[in-house]
Amino acid sequence: MTAVHVPGLPVIEADRLISTSPATGAEAGRFPVANEADVRRTVDRARAAGEWWAGLGFTGRRERMLRWRALLAKRIEQLAEVVHVEGGKPIADAIVEIVTAIEHIDWAARNASRVLGPRRVRSRLILAEFSGHLEYQPHGVVGVIGPWNYPVFTPIGSAAYALAAGNAVVLKPSEYTPAAGQWLVDSFAEVVPEQPVFTAVHGLGDVGAALCRSGVDKLAFTGSTATARKVMAACAETLTPVLIEGGGKDAMIVDSDADLDAAAEACVWGGMTNAGQTCIGIERVYAVDSVFDAFVDKVVARAGQLTVGAEGSDIGPITMPRQLDVIRGHIDAAIASGGRAVLGGPSAVQPPYVHPTVLVDVAEESAAVREETFGPTLTINRVRDADEAVTRANALPYGLGGSVFGRRRAVSIARRLRSGMASINSTLTFAGMSTLPFGGVGDSGFGRIHGEDGLREFGRAKAITRRRARSLLPSMTFERTPTDVARLVKAIKVMYGR
Ligand code: NDP
Repeated sequence: MTAVHVPGLPVIEADRLISTSPATGAEAGRFPVANEADVRRTVDRARAAGEWWAGLGFTGRRERMLRWRALLAKRIEQLAEVVHVEGGKPIADAIVEIVTAIEHIDWAARNASRVLGPRRVRSRLILAEFSGHLEYQPHGVVGVIGPWNYPVFTPIGSAAYALAAGNAVVLKPSEYTPAAGQWLVDSFAEVVPEQPVFTAVHGLGDVGAALCRSGVDKLAFTGSTATARKVMAACAETLTPVLIEGGGKDAMIVDSDADLDAAAEACVWGGMTNAGQTCIGIERVYAVDSVFDAFVDKVVARAGQLTVGAEGSDIGPITMPRQLDVIRGHIDAAIASGGRAVLGGPSAVQPPYVHPTVLVDVAEESAAVREETFGPTLTINRVRDADEAVTRANALPYGLGGSVFGRRRAVSIARRLRSGMASINSTLTFAGMSTLPFGGVGDSGFGRIHGEDGLREFGRAKAITRRRARSLLPSMTFERTPTDVARLVKAIKVMYGR
């Protein structure tokens, strides 16, 4: 760490991408910038490596991925330091992020064979003379494009599952967090030194675009909805399948029978961890009228105690300098729309930091309610009852996660949320449960990472039938006779005609 740059702003100098700390401007690392030809070459090399990797089988891959997982666990403090310096994330938040990623590597490695491996499937009376076989084969090379806000958890959410399924992976980390991406790739190479199975290409958005067009067999994108549209358009040119983990504006609903202390604690954590720069972070809250005032008081009391600063604080700097304008704009818009800041407010934005801000009674049309703020800010609005809360929560094109605090109606409310995930009496917890799928609906994307669905996302279903006896009712052949067809008609009427 030598030169000091504009804090948090990545720069390119002599074909090197220089990553900097958003808190101090200290250099966090420099990485070669790839051009289009480099990206293609990397993908070509990955294709050969992928064949070798697939050839190791589930057992060989599991053994190596578990060693990789052990290496991450042993060096967790070192990786947390990289994430902290480069993105400004408090060390404790970085540790939690990496713990979650390690859990996903472990689960994906241990379960890939069971979920994706060859199996017999039942045949039915029609075609009973054939056995059915199913397996999920690797796509080949999976391109992973990641954001900066969770530079370990988000790429691993795709990469670990893709690798366990037998694919090679080429990662394009965000230009704001190349060091974390390179660390992951380098650590993997320590346990798999033979072939470039997991590699990275660095640069700005154009390098991500080049990866989309490079001939990868699948593209897993995590980032904003606006970029997701560009990624899909680029992938459409070659019919490259895509997985989209887009943005969100997750809501929390506080019902009348909620434990308000627990709700306030989880709300502050869910909204302000990582300085609010969390795709599944709580950004808006709907609390029913009977508990609204007490709930707001508890949130303000807790959020007001959070410390803000570079080292040892609860809330670190905002990673992307330009996000500060967005956050300021949303706070201003909330107040202009008739909302009130009961904590923080416009003066809370003190670059590169934003102090906790709680806004109440904000108009639903305000950008503060409709668009991703990505800061330690919350809007809390009063609703008549849980039904109104659900209607408002579901009113946006986004549908990533969500949270419900309550007792009697909590499960039914969670099920009615138009989102891919929900947590009851907690926030964000579904992200850490490796057995559950992760992903959104609407503008938040499609496809799933994590869990069994996440493994299947990175395998192609291969269906095989095998004859095991002569056909009693031959149908799929020109050898069939009119009598065979008549018997077929009779059989189908007996079986399904009632
Ligand atoms: P961006 O969409 O700006 O960038 C995401 C990635 O795409 C970066 O690596 C970026 O590179 C790259 N990229 C930029 N332009 C292109 C292009 N034309 N073609 C291909 N790739 C491109 O998102 P952020 O990095 O700002 O991340 C924050 C967003 O990510 C938020 O919206 C957040 O909600 C979302 N997110 C979603 C998650 C989920 O699981 N659903 C999880 C975490 C975040 P570069 O950085 O070099 O521009």
